[in-house]
Amino acid sequence: MRPRVVYAADVEPRAFWVAGRAVHGEDELTVTHPYDGRAVGRTSWATPDQVETAVAAAARVAAEATALPAHVRAAALDHVSRQLAARAAEAADLITAENGKPISWARAEVGRAVSTFRWAAEEARRFSGELQRLDTDPAATGRIALVRRVPRGPVLGIAPFNFPLNLVAHKVAPALAVGAPIIVKPAPATPLSALLLGEILAGTELPAGMFSVLPLPNDRAADLVTDPRLPVVSFTGSGPVGAQIRRRVPEKHVTLELGGNAAAVICADWASDEDLAFAARRIATFGNYQAGQSCIAVQRVLVHERHHDVFLPRLVAAVRSLRTGDPAAESTDVGPLVSVEAAQRVEAWVDEAVAAGATVETGGRRDGASYPPTVLTGVPSSAKVCAEEVFGPVLVVASVESDDAAFAAVNDSAYGLQAGVFTHRLDVAFVAARVLEVGGVIVGDVPSYRADQMPYGGVKGSGVGREGVRSAMDDYTEPRVLVLTGV
Ligand code: NAD
Repeated sequence: MRPRVVYAADVEPRAFWVAGRAVHGEDELTVTHPYDGRAVGRTSWATPDQVETAVAAAARVAAEATALPAHVRAAALDHVSRQLAARAAEAADLITAENGKPISWARAEVGRAVSTFRWAAEEARRFSGELQRLDTDPAATGRIALVRRVPRGPVLGIAPFNFPLNLVAHKVAPALAVGAPIIVKPAPATPLSALLLGEILAGTELPAGMFSVLPLPNDRAADLVTDPRLPVVSFTGSGPVGAQIRRRVPEKHVTLELGGNAAAVICADWASDEDLAFAARRIATFGNYQAGQSCIAVQRVLVHERHHDVFLPRLVAAVRSLRTGDPAAESTDVGPLVSVEAAQRVEAWVDEAVAAGATVETGGRRDGASYPPTVLTGVPSSAKVCAEEVFGPVLVVASVESDDAAFAAVNDSAYGLQAGVFTHRLDVAFVAARVLEVGGVIVGDVPSYRADQMPYGGVKGSGVGREGVRSAMDDYTEPRVLVLTGV
C-alpha cells in the first residue's frame, strides 16, 4: 500500500491565494477531522487588506482577461487537470481529512475535478458564439450578426463543505474557460483542498489577478457579496443563505445551487427480483454516500404499493450491509457527518419523526459526528426528515398507489433539484420528465447523478440558474452583437 499523507496541525500553515500569490493572514484557522476531532491542518483568514488586493486585481485584469486567446485559457485548464491527476492521492487524503468522507468517495471527487478542468479546456476551445442571418427581414438584406459572448466581469464563487474540491472546480474552471477572473471562497470547515487547487492554479501562465482563494468567515463573505466590482455571484450552499444573497444583490447576476430532498420512485413496471435488488442497492448507496451530505442524495423513496413489501426488506438489508467507521479505511462506505452539531440535528429530526409516529426500520445511536444509516417508514409528510433537506444518512420510504401518485408526492416539496425514476417504460419516463418539477430526471437510477456536460441545477427552493461547465460559461458571459452590413 502506498504511504498515506499525514496531515497534522504541527505542519506549516497553508498559504492562501491573493491575485495568484501565496500569502498568509493574521488570524489562524485550524481545520479538524470530523471523525475524531483532531487537528488536520492550518491556514489563516484573509485580512480586509488582502481581500481588497484580490478584488482590485480581479477588476484590473478583467479587460485583459477577456482578450486572452482560447489556446492560453485551454492550456491553463489542461495544466490544472494534469496536475490534479498527478496529485490525486494527496488531494483525496486532504478531502477525507477535512470533510470526513470515505477515501473511496474522496478519490471519486478528485477524479471528477480532473475531468471538470479537462472538459472546461475543451469547451474553451469551442466557445465561439453564433452567426445569425438577419436577411429574413427585407430591410436587413445584406446584414448578418455575429453574436459573441463576453464575460460579465469578475466572478465571486462561494462553495459549501460537502464537495470541497469539486464544487470549487465547478466555479473556477468555467470562469477561466471564458476569461473571467474569479475569487473563490471555500467553506470554513473545508478550505484545504481548495488551497491545494490554488497552488496548482499558481503554476499556470494565467495573468496575476485571474484567481484568488480566500478563507473568509460567513459575515466577511456576506460583505464581499455586495462589492460592485464582482458583478457575478455563483453560490452553492444552503437555501437560507442563497435567499439572503439574492435579496441583497438583486442587481447582480446570481446563480444559486441550493439544497434538495431528492426522491427516487419505484414505478409499477419495475417489478422483477433483479430490478428491485438493483434499486435497493443503488438507493442504499446513494442515500448514504458522504453520510447523506449531497444535495442529490436520495432522501425520499416512493415505492409502488405492489412492490413495497418485497422492496423494503431488501432496502433495509442493503443499508445494513454498508460499512461505517473511519473514513480513511479502504473498506468504509459511510463516515461521519461534517460535525457533531450536524449529526445532532439529524438525530433530533429522526427523533421528531418517531415521536410523530414513524418507525425506524434500521438505524442506531449517534456517536459523536457519526450517525448510522437509517431507514424510516410511516413518516408524516410534514416531518422535517421528509419535508426539509435532511443532509444526513436517512431514507424515508413510503408506499404509493400509482406512478402518478408518486410523481405528485415528488412535487409535494419546497425543493426541485433532481429525481430518480426506476422504470423500463419510455412513456412513463416521458411523463416523469414532463410532470416532475425538478432540474433533472434520471431514468433507471437514483437522482444522484451529475455529469459536467449536463446543465445542473434546480427549481423552486433548489436554486436559480444552472451549473455544468457549459451552462456556467453561459452564465458568466453575456451576448454582444456585432451587426455587419453589406455582406
Ligand atoms: P452554507 O450555506 O452554510 O455555506 C455555504 C458557503 O456559504 C460557505 O462557504 C459559507 O461560508 C458561505 N456563507 C455562509 N453564510 C454566508 C453569507 N451570509 N454570505 C455569503 N456567504 C455565506 O452551506 P453548507 O452547509 O456549507 O453546504 C450545505 C448546503 O449546500 C446544503 O444545503 C446542500 O444541499 C447545498 N449544496 C447544493 C449543491 C447544488 O449543486 N445544488 C451542491 C452541494 C451542496
